[in-house]
Amino acid sequence: MQHGVILKTYNSFYYVKTNAKVTMCTLRGRFKKERFSLLVGDEVEYNITENGKGIIEKILPRRSMLQRPMIANIDQVIITFAAVSPDINTILIDRFLVLAEMSDLDIVICINKIDLADSEELKPILELYRSIGYCVITISAKMGVGIEELRNQLSGKISVFAGPSGAGKSTILNTVEEGLTLVTGQVSEKIGRGKHTTRFAELLPLSSGGFVVDTPGFSFTEFENVKKNELMYYFPEIAAVVHECKFNTCLHLKEPQCAVKQLVTEGRIQEQRYHSYTEILAEIQDKKKGF
Ligand code: GDP
Ligand code: ZN
Repeated sequence: MQHGVILKTYNSFYYVKTNAKVTMCTLRGRFKKERFSLLVGDEVEYNITENGKGIIEKILPRRSMLQRPMIANIDQVIITFAAVSPDINTILIDRFLVLAEMSDLDIVICINKIDLADSEELKPILELYRSIGYCVITISAKMGVGIEELRNQLSGKISVFAGPSGAGKSTILNTVEEGLTLVTGQVSEKIGRGKHTTRFAELLPLSSGGFVVDTPGFSFTEFENVKKNELMYYFPEIAAVVHECKFNTCLHLKEPQCAVKQLVTEGRIQEQRYHSYTEILAEIQDKKKGF
């Protein structure tokens, strides 16, 4: 049997990549009876039939599953923002970080368009996220700066890009991988291919051995599934100290002897991050009240 990864699905066919070869496969009947839904990103084993097509015989256990887009086995999210044009927005970065933390993915923060940026202005932002422990890389897709480091980050993994429209996600992919020609400069759900061309995301193989998803992740920056007493755990620097609060129900708002607020006062947790935390918390609570 051959072992491969599903790149895309179309008309009940699964396009399975093994080394450099892609084989059109169908699913063995018994899986259909079990109503098992196979996803892009799933690892499978298949046999080649006489007509050169494949039959999927076995589905390997999933390591992870992302909801938007629906993809199996994603390793990491590359949270991509422009340094300027559009201006960098740390509140929005924090929102994407929470969604990524909720999905339990490895996280890389990628700041693009540094050719347009004032490096002194950018520095405190980079330092903030690095001090929390995030991997932050700075690149210019246009000038080819930092692309090698990004390629190394993507190598051997399945990655999804996330971030606001105009950050340069399509341009970055075109620069990282020769041969990809995603259309840039348009507002689009599916990176560079215009809206609603297909409903399903695909994996694009990289020559370094990894894959990238052709559709940005987390297009909806809503927090419908977060519980108010869980949100703190998606801010690593807050999560690290919550056990020191006097009350174990502490939401770090007005409660007395709150370790989080104490550290904000001392400047050891950044005001801006605490602000993002309280803003998202307020949204979650408003939703519960039916606003
Ligand atoms: P997406 O919406 O995130 O896919 O963004 P695009 O890739 O479509 O890029 C949006 C615009 O930013 C395009 O006009 C790109 O040419 C431009 N752009 C992308 N990367 C860079 C960069 O590194 N520097 C500069 N100056 N412009 C860039
Ligand atoms: Zn507290």
